[in-house]
Amino acid sequence: MAYDFDLFVIGAGSGGVRAARFAAGFDAKVAVAESRYLGGTCVNVGCVPKKLLVYGAHVADELEQAAGFGWTLEEGHFDWGTLIANKNREIERLNGIYRNLLVNSGVTLLQGHARITGANEVEVHGQRYSAEHILIATGGWPQVPDIPGKELAITSNEAFYLKDLPRRVLVVGGGYIAVEFAGIFQGLGADTTLLYRGDLFLRGFDGSVRTHLKEELEKRGLNLQFNADIQRIDKLEDGTLKATLKDGRELLADCVFYATGRRPMLDNLGLENTGVELDARGYIRVDDQYQTTAPSVLAIGDVIGRVQLTPVALAEGMAVARRLFKPEQYRPVDYQNIPTAVFSQPPIGTVGLTEEQALEAGHKVQVFESRFRAMKLTLTDIQEKTLMKLVVDAETDKVLGCHMVGPDAGEIIQGLGVALKAGATKQQFDETIGVHPTAAEEFVTMRTATR
Ligand code: FAD
Ligand code: NDP
Repeated sequence: MAYDFDLFVIGAGSGGVRAARFAAGFDAKVAVAESRYLGGTCVNVGCVPKKLLVYGAHVADELEQAAGFGWTLEEGHFDWGTLIANKNREIERLNGIYRNLLVNSGVTLLQGHARITGANEVEVHGQRYSAEHILIATGGWPQVPDIPGKELAITSNEAFYLKDLPRRVLVVGGGYIAVEFAGIFQGLGADTTLLYRGDLFLRGFDGSVRTHLKEELEKRGLNLQFNADIQRIDKLEDGTLKATLKDGRELLADCVFYATGRRPMLDNLGLENTGVELDARGYIRVDDQYQTTAPSVLAIGDVIGRVQLTPVALAEGMAVARRLFKPEQYRPVDYQNIPTAVFSQPPIGTVGLTEEQALEAGHKVQVFESRFRAMKLTLTDIQEKTLMKLVVDAETDKVLGCHMVGPDAGEIIQGLGVALKAGATKQQFDETIGVHPTAAEEFVTMRTATR
């Protein structure tokens, strides 16, 4: 049977665009439908605008350090409106680049909501298209717990478009987004409190990293409230928001920002017209080749709920395009040792096993840990400490995990990701010549095991 398209991709985000472009490059006839914004979450309300705001907040650090290097500056003034307008301009530029990338690779771009109407059929704006393969790459959406007053709270989606910087912010959650936005709000001058329901935020990260970041954030004056959860939010007459905690405490704020995880975006997608099944957590169930339980439907990215990171969605998109249209080039995505950064202030960089995971997996673990004041701070009064940590298998000498909290952690950890992928041993780390003077060289000069 002749189909309109070989591949119909739903969602022009990180994964969808990558799959579409590569498939078209392999001579497949490809369509992409996008209901909201080209480039998806990462470009519009995720990685990119977030990193721009992090840069904005980081300027405050540079200003604070300037006096130690002899600079006298007029008192600085920050204008949120300018930062947001400039950010918006950059995002629009990127939207255009994504459009060109798709159109120039021969992909048919359909702007509108796509709904699956049959095993090989998708509807956009009332028009039905047939396709041999349908790829669901619809991403995720912020999830706010169902508490009274939840409509008074915002999520990351709205935070990027706030008209003014709120004076007092309550950030709820203890994952990537909560920690990053707490740093953004606080760095830009808002009185910021982070509320997390457990004992210590960033569950799943290395214990030393979590404790170290907690200490550094407290040094910076961020108000961290652990074992704290909001029961209800009310709006007072003057517009102030009152958050009542489960322990009865009441906190006042101008903005309550929820970063309590994301759900898969399946709204009005028409899954009932397919044999696509969801897993126990509500994400689309796929096998190791991104095949759903319906033979003609595949799914990648945040909507499958594996690792919700842009480079992972990109790798999955590429794997699908190759498997369908260039099988001789197909290689499975390697989910081991995925490097990642949390762009907190200071940032975290991490790759491989945490100490806790290594012990749980039965490794005999040797830990090398170093805490030091970065050279750049020695001419200032700032007492921030950098943490670097290596988790090593004492029997094989293989480096199992590298963890860092400190300036440029994300930049530094990328290279270590290559080392771990190559299976580097601690001895090979030791034999690597350092780059001097850098903070990064500490990763190849830690000689004495701390545990
Ligand atoms: P998305 O990029 O979400 O794309 C899905 C697209 O599908 C969207 O454009 C949506 O509009 C469209 N869509 C949905 N339903 C339909 C439909 N029915 N019809 C048509 N179109 C539809 N990751 C990192 O690696 N580094 C970071 O620093 C980072 N920062 C982040 C910061 C924030 C605030 C957030 C929210 C996420 C961040 N992420 C980061 C995660 C990253 O953005 C996601 O993992 C990534 O975007 C997932 O890509 P995707 O293709 O699965 O989905
Ligand atoms: P996460 O899943 O990382 O964190 C969610 C947080 O909210 C956890 O601390 C969780 O607590 C808490 N939480 C969940 N439900 C509730 C609830 N009902 N009440 C109170 N707290 C709750 O999600 P995020 O929203 O921070 O980010 C989504 C994903 O996007 C990340 O996991 C990451 O994959 C990606 N991302 C990546 C970034 C990067 O690469 N730098 C940046 C931003 C996002 P608990 O731990 O106790 O369950």
